[in-house]
Amino acid sequence: MRRYQTEGSRRLHQQTVPYLLDGVGSSFHVSSYRDYPVAMTHGKGSKLYDVDGNEYIDYVLGFGPMLLGYCPPAVDRAVAEQLRRGSHFSAPTEDLKRLSQRLVEIIPSAELVAYQNSGTEVVMYALRLARAYTGKYKIVKFEGQYHGWSDEEKVSIDASCVEELGDRENPRKILHTKGQRLSSAEDLIVLPWNDLPALERTLAARGGEIAAVLMEPCMCDSGPILPKPGYLEGVREVTRKYGVLLIFDEVITGFRLALGGAQAYYGVTPDLSTFAKAIASGYPFGAVVGRREVMACGVPASGTFNGNPIGVAAALATIETLSQPGVYAHLEGLAQQLETGFRALARKYHRPLYLRHVGSIFILYFGFAEDVEDFRDWLTQADLASYTRFVAGCEEYGVRFTDRRGREYLSVAHTQEDIRRTLAVADQVLGEMER
Ligand code: PMP
Repeated sequence: MRRYQTEGSRRLHQQTVPYLLDGVGSSFHVSSYRDYPVAMTHGKGSKLYDVDGNEYIDYVLGFGPMLLGYCPPAVDRAVAEQLRRGSHFSAPTEDLKRLSQRLVEIIPSAELVAYQNSGTEVVMYALRLARAYTGKYKIVKFEGQYHGWSDEEKVSIDASCVEELGDRENPRKILHTKGQRLSSAEDLIVLPWNDLPALERTLAARGGEIAAVLMEPCMCDSGPILPKPGYLEGVREVTRKYGVLLIFDEVITGFRLALGGAQAYYGVTPDLSTFAKAIASGYPFGAVVGRREVMACGVPASGTFNGNPIGVAAALATIETLSQPGVYAHLEGLAQQLETGFRALARKYHRPLYLRHVGSIFILYFGFAEDVEDFRDWLTQADLASYTRFVAGCEEYGVRFTDRRGREYLSVAHTQEDIRRTLAVADQVLGEMER
């Protein structure tokens, strides 16, 4: 196997750094294993091509949005057609009606829809709705769950070690960056995820001040962890019992687990939910959906670009493509093929690998093989150094996994041949890691 040279990326990075903060468009693009990120020229289907002409089978997929792969023809056509008519009007359109109607049809909790432009914004809006509707201000969020970069969202999303997190039932609230107001976490109650008794105790004691429980229904962003059987149903029951709204943050799970999101996949209906990323195949777009009386409680959905025609066109074409028969079966088949192949490699190299998939999200950890229940379990057991070595090695042979700790995305454009090539590269890299 030939190792890629990425000198062009290095040069471009050196030329960019004098002008652009860290030389990247988003700090998530800073590589955790080399001193420059690989720079791309274009993508097509499941592949990305870098400035040195190397081809990568890509499982990063723009951090999730490219569920249809790069340049999906139906989305490109719809966007090009809209561009001819104008990119932005600040006025309703026929397509805005069609998209809203379609979202209400396919998402179980959706009785009414509102739009924003990113995952950060949709969660901010959902929290404001929940507070306005209930007249209460506290929000329960869970350790290790990321909901965006606003002051209040970026709390207790990560830790370098378990000790940093403090007492399990009464964890420290950790602000993530300098510059976040010290009061950012004042109205947050942080709890361990997947622990129904801990949630019920909190709701029983403080339900009168809690507006909502905010959670990813399948914990994806930091250290993907699956919900324990019955957990989501239990959360739904206790939130109802104590008069607290349930918000599912489906920014990652939306459209990936099923057309109707994780709520359709798991059969648990929240009061509000948030969608972004895959909803519009790479165009900045987001939606908050939910119960009519909560959505219509009088909070303006402000924003210059909300419901913009390009995002709307992309979202409609995305949903239409995902509605074709066989799409989710194809994704499931690829995920199974990848999981089966990696299991064989784990046996071959006697390595504990944690391998699971949920819809088109594939989870790959080094260091343990059994299910973990919460962020702390994961943090104590995950071998992040080996994972990083593995990802760095695969990139050199043309397979791009995320350095975001084991959460890989599949797209409709991936093929069985892509998976075979990926497994051959993984075999090579695991072999090299033995030496
Ligand atoms: N919620 C979740 C669950 C996310 O994973 C993310 C981003 N990774 C966000 C919200 C924020 O989305 P964005 O980066 O589009 O602001």
